Order: sequence, then structure tokens, then C-alpha cells
Amino acid sequence: MEQYWSGSAVNRNKGMVENLQQYGVIKSRKVAEIMETIDRGLFVPNGAQPYVDSPMLIGYNATISAPHMHATCLQLLEENLQPGMRALDVGSGTGYLTACFALMVGPQGRTIGVEHIPELVSFSIQNIEKSAAAPQLKDGSLSVYVTDGRQGWPEFAPYDAIHVGAAAPEIPQALIDQLKPGGRMVIPVGTIFQDLKVVDKNSDGAISIRTETSVRYVPLTSKEAQLQG
Ligand code: SAH
Repeated sequence: MEQYWSGSAVNRNKGMVENLQQYGVIKSRKVAEIMETIDRGLFVPNGAQPYVDSPMLIGYNATISAPHMHATCLQLLEENLQPGMRALDVGSGTGYLTACFALMVGPQGRTIGVEHIPELVSFSIQNIEKSAAAPQLKDGSLSVYVTDGRQGWPEFAPYDAIHVGAAAPEIPQALIDQLKPGGRMVIPVGTIFQDLKVVDKNSDGAISIRTETSVRYVPLTSKEAQLQG
């Protein structure tokens, strides 16, 4: 499913969340609450229509994912985003999902966003500062770093939840290594044809991988390749 609704009829964050519930994309009260609390309108560039179910350009050949993809990933990771847990958002872009993760794991948890375009990291920090996750930037339970996300962020590993917001040709080993036993990673994999993969690390460290759905994301690549388009 690439788009559940279009046009500008949905002009409030709450309307967007209600649509996602009606279409069955948001399944839990918790995910609805989080997406109601973090207003997507604070994370899109000026002039964009934030509540349409579509990805939007954010510059640097990057996009903010469509609302139904954000909701799908929050649903898939919900059990691994309990209060006190650790979350890593790779390719954090606008910071929207990073802020949602921070609210889910709370100030006792740890949320890290990693993004390789420094301008997008600054943009995401400004966006988060306007959002309900702002106190967590201040108390240090939420941080965003400029780095090549294919290496993860070893400092706070292992993570209960890892989300990758760009499609990798194959799953980076560093990210598998930084997943906690019992942890889950959601990652789009592929080049032209991509699948959203759910990677679970069992308590004994064994990995199981399943496909959730077909998707289309920008590539997880080098900064130079991305800027060349
Ligand atoms: N979840 C974000 C998705 C942004 S698009 C959002 O909805 O706002 C994917 C992002 O991945 C882009 O911001 C892009 O710059 C970033 N990216 C691509 N390759 C990367 C890499 N190797 N390391 C870090 N970030 C990367």
C-alpha cells in the first residue's frame, strides 16, 4: 500500500492519526497517543502539507517518510520501545520518529538518532525542540549525532529497538551486532525493489528475519553518493 489518502482534506495531526486508525495501520492506543503527541506538522519544511499520507522532500535528496510508514514502524517496534529501553534511529532525517521513540522509552530510556547530513541533524534538533520531546533533548535521554549510520552508534549499544529509515543493499553487520538479545530491528532492504525486514535477535543471540511488506525508501549510502543523487 503506497498511499491511504491524498489531498488536503486532512489538515490536523489528530485527523491524520484518526485516518491511520481507521485504515488499521495504527493498531494500539499507545502508538495513537504518541503520534497525537508529536505533531508531524513541526517536522516538515515550511509550505509542505504535513498530514497527507505521502513522503515529502526535505532537501539533500532525502524525504520524510509517509505517515503510514512511521505508524507501521512504531507498531512493529512497540514492544521494544517500553519505558527505560534503548532505541537507535538510523537515518533520522527530520527527527520525527526519533522524537516518537524518545516519548515511548521516556527519560529513563535512551534514544539516539544518527544521520550523515549535518544540516539535517540541525534541522531535526530545531524540530524536536518545538515538540513534546524537547525536555528529553535537555535531560540528555535523547541525542542526535552526525555520523555514517551504517556503523550504528556503539557507545550506547546494545539497543532494544533499531529503526533504519533508508534502504540498505544488505543488513549492516554493525547494526545486527548492536542489537540486544530480545531486540528487534526494522530495516528496508534492497535497491530497486525493497522489502521492509523485521530482524529479531533471540535471547540466545540467534537471528530470525521476516519480510513485512514492500516499500520504497531513499538509499542508505555514503553522503557523497546521496548528494550526487
Ligand atoms: N525517518 C526519517 C527518514 C529520512 S529519509 C524521516 O522520516 O524523517 C532517510 C535518511 O537517511 C535521510 O535523511 C538520509 O540523509 C539518511 N541517510 C542515508 N544514508 C545514511 C547513512 N549512511 N548514514 C546516516 N544517514 C543516512
